[in-house]
Amino acid sequence: MGNVMLHPSIDGGVKKGASGFAGGTLVCNCADRPVRLKIKGSVAHNHACGCTKCWKPAGAKFSVVAVTGTENVTVEANGDKLAVVDPAALIQRHACKACGVHMYGPVERDHPFKGLSFVHPERFEEEGWAEPGFAAFVSSIIEAGVMPSEMDGVRARLKEIGLEPYDCLNPALMDYIATWTAKKSGALKD
Ligand SMILES: [Zn+2]
Ligand SMILES: [Zn+2]
Repeated sequence: MGNVMLHPSIDGGVKKGASGFAGGTLVCNCADRPVRLKIKGSVAHNHACGCTKCWKPAGAKFSVVAVTGTENVTVEANGDKLAVVDPAALIQRHACKACGVHMYGPVERDHPFKGLSFVHPERFEEEGWAEPGFAAFVSSIIEAGVMPSEMDGVRARLKEIGLEPYDCLNPALMDYIATWTAKKSGALKD
């Protein structure tokens, strides 16, 4: 199953992060004037994502994407190259206009993820970022052109490298979202 390609950073197996990882610098793909972003502290909820919105390196079926508090993100250099991919989307993905890499995606709307920013840890210059722990929106890779007949192999390979495949988010995050919604509607009291 090692021939099922998912994403370059996990195709050789999931590499454990370093416990003391304290953040670092995300860099886009440009050789000239790369966009540089400082991330303070470690990233959380890192996962492989099969949705069609997340940025993926060429040829990858999945993105690898994590979150940090938006207050931990500082654009350090060449921020003039950033533009929001889809202003109507929940996640305001800021991409480099020259190379297309998504640098950070804050959630600013009233939503359980408000105050978080989505980032792609593979863009860290530093090693040791927290490894992905599951795979989300797996069925969505079909929307990007993967044959439905390949899905058994994709899910088996994800399991083989220790990433449980889910067709939305993992139970912890789905419960978190539902709890926020229930508190808002009054179905759950604080
Ligand atoms: Zn760039
Ligand atoms: Zn995604």
